[in-house]
Amino acid sequence: MQVIRHSEQALKTALISKNAELIKLYEKLSQGERRLLNEAFRPDCILFQPITVHSESDWIPSHPESTQDFEQFYQNPYRNTPSAKRSTIYVQPIEDLLKFLKQKKPKDAFCIVGITMIDLYPKESWNFVFGQASLTEGMGIFSFARYDSDFYSRNYKGQLKPVKKLTAGDYSVFDGYYTPPVTSTLLLRSCKTLTHELGHIFGIRHCQWLQCVMQGSNHLEESDRRPLELCPICIRKLHCALGFNIAERYKALLHWIDGGGCDVEDPGCSSKTHHLPKAVEDFKEHRAWILKCLDLLQQ
Ligand SMILES: [Zn+2]
Ligand SMILES: [Zn+2]
Repeated sequence: MQVIRHSEQALKTALISKNAELIKLYEKLSQGERRLLNEAFRPDCILFQPITVHSESDWIPSHPESTQDFEQFYQNPYRNTPSAKRSTIYVQPIEDLLKFLKQKKPKDAFCIVGITMIDLYPKESWNFVFGQASLTEGMGIFSFARYDSDFYSRNYKGQLKPVKKLTAGDYSVFDGYYTPPVTSTLLLRSCKTLTHELGHIFGIRHCQWLQCVMQGSNHLEESDRRPLELCPICIRKLHCALGFNIAERYKALLHWIDGGGCDVEDPGCSSKTHHLPKAVEDFKEHRAWILKCLDLLQQ
């Protein structure tokens, strides 16, 4: 196993930069926020760990990319930033999404993300059906099928049956789409993927600084290894794109984990509803980590 350890100076420059304007901008953050972000380059920091490479099939050895520090992110003229008018991220189950798109992209949409449990890519040749979905145009479709522990069983119910040829724009394969029980592992993996892909929509490239949800991942084991959270350098990028209070964001994440499940209609009887508890057992470690960050922010 190889540990990618950047020098204190390299991490400090990646986070704060040497550009006077950006240093000034950094100083506008609250003292607590800077205390948290500065953990990125504190030598005996435990909140943010260096990236480890476990094999040649991991993302970094198999996809050599240049790094992106805060300044490169900030200066990118093609970066998409939400505006007061386009500020909503729509996450839609794919059937609803397609109905949605038949009308029009809502005016206040910053981006639309479709999610499905149907396996979208059983073969390379299926790609064309979804060829028009593009993150840079603010639209993406993601399948979580391969995150389901049942996926590799032979009778996975979300497997598309290639009974007919599809043409671009024919989405009839989604009629009566499959919804598996949402296990905690499936929920955690899906949250990681969505957070990662949304990060790309905001212009954040793959992170090579510290362990971070923006690390590229080449396979499921590597994806499970990366944390759900952003490292300080990527937090600063997201903060710059959205302008939130860092502690409030962590509190909102805690609230989501601790909040209850949801009520769903009984498919057999529309007047009955079932309460589905939220499957968050796998989020325990993440929850403990958020509490440590809040401690540091509020000291
Ligand atoms: Zn990525
Ligand atoms: Zn990062």
